[in-house]
Amino acid sequence: MTARVLVVDDIPTNVKLLAARLSAEYFDVLEANNGADAIEICQTGEVDLVLLDVMMPEMDGFETCNRLKQDPKTQHIPVVMVTALDQPSDKVRGLEAGADDFLTKPVDDVQLMARVKSLSRLKSLTDELRSRAVTGQAIAIEDVVEMTSNISTVDANILVIDSDAHNAKRLIETLEVNHNVQHLPTPEDATFTLADGNFDVVVVSMALDGIDPLRVCSQIRTLEATRSLPIVLVADVPDKPKVVRGLELGVNDFILRPIERNELAARVKTQIRRHRYSNELRKNLSSTVAMAVIDGLTGLYNRRYFDRHMSVLLEKARESEKNLGLMMLDIDFFKSVNDTHGHAAGDEVLKEFSQRMQRNIRGMDLACRYGGEEFAILLPETDLAHAKGVAERIRHAVASEPFETEMTMPLNITVSVGISINEHEDDTPEQMLKRADIALYRAKREGRNRIVYDAA
Ligand code: GH3
Ligand code: MG
Ligand code: MG
Repeated sequence: MTARVLVVDDIPTNVKLLAARLSAEYFDVLEANNGADAIEICQTGEVDLVLLDVMMPEMDGFETCNRLKQDPKTQHIPVVMVTALDQPSDKVRGLEAGADDFLTKPVDDVQLMARVKSLSRLKSLTDELRSRAVTGQAIAIEDVVEMTSNISTVDANILVIDSDAHNAKRLIETLEVNHNVQHLPTPEDATFTLADGNFDVVVVSMALDGIDPLRVCSQIRTLEATRSLPIVLVADVPDKPKVVRGLELGVNDFILRPIERNELAARVKTQIRRHRYSNELRKNLSSTVAMAVIDGLTGLYNRRYFDRHMSVLLEKARESEKNLGLMMLDIDFFKSVNDTHGHAAGDEVLKEFSQRMQRNIRGMDLACRYGGEEFAILLPETDLAHAKGVAERIRHAVASEPFETEMTMPLNITVSVGISINEHEDDTPEQMLKRADIALYRAKREGRNRIVYDAA
């Protein structure tokens, strides 16, 4: 994964210096020399991360950060403040302005890469959520907006592994303000504790009695249950080379002693966010999406999804001045299939029908089970002649081959189809559905196993 990093500093040499180091690690780099330019560049939507100098004339880093975090278009972009003054009060001001992280000048290479990688990973997760929302392929947009804005970063469960009682106490005191903290003085049982508990972050001290802390980290990474659990290392300055090894092993971030409380809180918060986003994403893909928008029997989209998405497709058709075709399909005399062969055989027919239907449409077409034995298909960029062609193909695919089920002799099935097309600028989903329904009704009345088109 490569990320696009915007470097903002009023001194051109500083920009060049950071840019060169980031480029060497294959990041794309954009540059700005003042806050106003930085904001403008961020608004193009192409920035994954901002490294922002605090001390700048006119608009300083705090103000710039504040504006980025106020604007819905840019508020999701992670911001790292780069401060020359190693002042705790600056860090607090940065936090208040919404900064996601800090670096102190002169910027240390290991820290720079750790922060940039950690935050760009977080960004790519949120982007994935956003893009799913935008394409509307799997989740409705309002679900995602609600989901991301509802993710809290407090009340997390944190495990602190530290053999030094004094050091541990300091870590715990800081983290306990917003979270539930459990302390493990010896790392032997770490993987058990972690696999059992519902942890958001594990903080591993480099000071562990007799055990290599990196071994603990790699065990956490190896186990299925904790593979994606964020790990934050706490190290002393001389441990730096080991920290680098840790980052290669998949440690997410680190913090050096003496520990600055706000820094610890900010780093842990970023990791909690990342972990909760990715959990949410996974959950949404596996359950919410499946249950909320997919029909269990046929695997087609359900009516809820279809109705929502139809207005999106109709709007797109209007903007691009293209046609949108709609088909309503209803299996003929389906009740008698149930009555004669049983409900289970009826279900088999519905599944097989869905498959034949799907084999005869394009990937961009949207098919759904609209109700019991009623189906609907939206065909973007499709005029009437083509829609009729597709409908005829489906009708033929259904009628030409008997349906095999495990329970009965092969069954002869037919389908009736009603078609409508977006007719004018102000056409609505409701009107199109109504016309397709009227057409379907006529197809039934005129003898079934046929296609009818109803003009507006
Ligand atoms: P027509 O040609 O006029 O459409 O006649 P039909 O028998 O297909 O229409 P009708 O609406 O009278 O009956 C539809 C039947 O579909 C009734 C209902 O029991 C059955 N059905 C609806 N959903 C399911 C389902 O999930 N599984 C099964 N097996 N049957 C279903
Ligand atoms: Mg029917
Ligand atoms: Mg019916």
